[in-house]
Amino acid sequence: MSTLLLKNADIIATYEGSFTCLRNSYLGIEGDTIDYIGSSKPTEKYDEEKDMHSRLLIPGLINSHGHSGMVLLRGLGSDLPLQDWLHQMWPIEDRMRVQDLQVGMKLAMLEMIATGTTSFSDMYLRPRDMTAVVEQSGMKANIARCITCPDTAMRYESFAPARESIELFKDFHKAFDDRLRIDFSIHAQYTITDLIARRYSEDCLDNGGRLHVHISETRKEHEDCISQLGKTPTRWFADLGTFKSPTAAAHCVWASDEDISIMAQNKVSVIHNPSSNMKLGSGFAPIGKMLRSGINVALGTDGAASNNNLNMLEEMHLASIIHKGYHLDPTLMKPETVLRMATANGALLQGRPDTGSLEVGKKADICAIDLDKPHLVPNLDPLALLSYSAQGSDVCMTMVNGRILYENGQYLTLDRERILREAEESARFLYGK
Ligand SMILES: [Zn+2]
Repeated sequence: MSTLLLKNADIIATYEGSFTCLRNSYLGIEGDTIDYIGSSKPTEKYDEEKDMHSRLLIPGLINSHGHSGMVLLRGLGSDLPLQDWLHQMWPIEDRMRVQDLQVGMKLAMLEMIATGTTSFSDMYLRPRDMTAVVEQSGMKANIARCITCPDTAMRYESFAPARESIELFKDFHKAFDDRLRIDFSIHAQYTITDLIARRYSEDCLDNGGRLHVHISETRKEHEDCISQLGKTPTRWFADLGTFKSPTAAAHCVWASDEDISIMAQNKVSVIHNPSSNMKLGSGFAPIGKMLRSGINVALGTDGAASNNNLNMLEEMHLASIIHKGYHLDPTLMKPETVLRMATANGALLQGRPDTGSLEVGKKADICAIDLDKPHLVPNLDPLALLSYSAQGSDVCMTMVNGRILYENGQYLTLDRERILREAEESARFLYGK
């Protein structure tokens, strides 16, 4: 097995659950696993040494909620409320061919890799056709066949998307050296019937799967559910048995105190998407309350049409500052909390305990930040630098399972020029221009 030593780097390592910043230190990798972290040079000889002077090594970022193919909808339907925005998206999505969806995911990956993301959770269209893209990219991904079914007459036995979802799980879960995971996914309470949601949740549990859903993104969605069904979307999912499987709930902007305690009791993870919530005017998720209740809160970009980029460092910045402003309290959302949301908490949500932190024995999923930039000097507090000063463009290396996917502007697994050209061609087809 080949070995690599990253030397002279600043490293945000984790010891017994807490971040520690080492200066001018060493990180050794054997195969796909970190086998050394320390401030003195290891005595063991490594096959290759790489000088990382003025680089800050952090755990690879985990984008816990997105819709990769929506990069082709970037810039569409700006400045509209969610329901009107969705009506702009759907006709274009209906026109998307397999090649559009594949190039969309590749375009999303170019952006994510270059801004330090090593793993992402995705719910979008035709996931079976996306598996080869994940294989090629070298990234880690939890992808899902997201189901919707507003037809109240639909019988579960006749509902093909549920069967497709289960077959996808059986065929591809843990494929490509476990880089690919298959999740189950229900789009949201307002796009599915009770019957289909309950039976699908049972199938998820029977198969040992994980669920990815949207919950209470907007006030309208939350209040419509209460007025129509007499309960919140969180209570509705809980009553249907959805939360018996490990569940990741995106947004939860309008979650009530009771919803938060239901999610805490059921160990539901929440994904905070600050850019999307701000851009669509959805509101401020009660992240402080969720964290105090012990909920695992991760971070995501959501799709590029509601963000409009997939830059996790920008999400970290927004997650760091918006709650301080909203609650008039600068002590909220400390940098270590936000970095944990963008890394270890995402790993927990994805069911990947072997990643999400820089520790001996964990997978070598690493992002390097180039500190040789005016806005990153002086480096008094690396965690604060990450939350408040760093930009996605400061990422100079992204590594997954010990394999470098991106370094100093160069992609090693994806053909940047071809993907950009094909994405422009797809956009011309989709918009008829
Ligand atoms: Zn979403």
